[in-house]
Amino acid sequence: RSLTAAEAEGDERAVEAALRPRTLDEVVGQVRVRDQLGLVLEAARMRGRAPDHVLLSGPPGLGKTTLAMIIAGEMGAPLRLTSGPAITHAGDLAAILSGMNEGDVLFVDEIHRMSRPAEEMLYMAMEDFRVDVVIGKGPGATAIPLEIPPFTLVGATTRAGLLPGPLRDRFGFTAHLEFYEPDELDLIVQRSARLLDVDVESDGTSEIASRSRGTPRIANRLLRRVRDYAQVRADGVVTLPVAQSALDLYEVDQLGLDRLDRAVIDVLCRRFGGGPVGISTLAVAVGEERETVEEVAEPFLVRNGFLARTPRGRVATPAAWTHLGLRAPAEAPA
Ligand code: ADP
Repeated sequence: RSLTAAEAEGDERAVEAALRPRTLDEVVGQVRVRDQLGLVLEAARMRGRAPDHVLLSGPPGLGKTTLAMIIAGEMGAPLRLTSGPAITHAGDLAAILSGMNEGDVLFVDEIHRMSRPAEEMLYMAMEDFRVDVVIGKGPGATAIPLEIPPFTLVGATTRAGLLPGPLRDRFGFTAHLEFYEPDELDLIVQRSARLLDVDVESDGTSEIASRSRGTPRIANRLLRRVRDYAQVRADGVVTLPVAQSALDLYEVDQLGLDRLDRAVIDVLCRRFGGGPVGISTLAVAVGEERETVEEVAEPFLVRNGFLARTPRGRVATPAAWTHLGLRAPAEAPA
């Protein structure tokens, strides 16, 4: 389906797919990861072998799925997509693995959320290209060994530390994706604007870029919201004032903090006097899942100096107080 059709139907996922870079050369930013991965793939091609298993970690929307697709594309191999939560039994995994052909790339998103038995089956499959399928229960159970053609596993996780050591160790190449710099996001927004046929001015795209939380997925989404605003409230051109007004309307603040980011520092400062407070308590107070606070909001807040992790819990930094327009409490007199 065309990009225009996907957009007309408001199909976010299809639009996102259409905006994905298709080759390593098209990937913006992540220079080190791109160079390292390029080398891994090139070497595998020269040897005529499937590349080593690859683990990609980093917050949502930074390009993990995109890179998995590029790995398959650059190897000329089919890609199979699944996710940790979809693999609840070892049997689910055995079914996927037994259908693989030599050189296929298997992408497992949220690989840290796979069930324990499936995880153990995966160790063996990654290392020996073999699994034991257990038939029956109790004393009569038998393990039937099943050979799997050499394949490449690409695992994605928000934090590599969430994976058990033995699983982590079986990846030959591990890459951590970092938040993007505003100038990199600007290039991404400009590229997407071209593909979406949006009329933009350069200070309009740089405004969107600087308020995108360091995240390409958000940059692409905000571009489309700003375009809506430009069409309805202006003459269709994304200028600086248009971008500013639109982003204010969508509650994306000057520094790119979204509603959850702000809720976290707001609760931390106003309700808990700046902390320290445990992550679970903080999550309950903002009405979100602990995982969402820990894996989505926190990495951005920490990296931008609004929040610090201490052994006793999370604390607000002076920048957080200032950003909320509040005065940090003075240190208690000694
Ligand atoms: P993840 O799997 O990490 O959640 P995705 O790979 O789905 O993230 O990326 C989300 C969106 O951001 C995609 O539509 C893609 O177009 C865009 N994107 C991600 N990384 C890049 C990049 N390095 N260059 C250009 N666009 C990117």
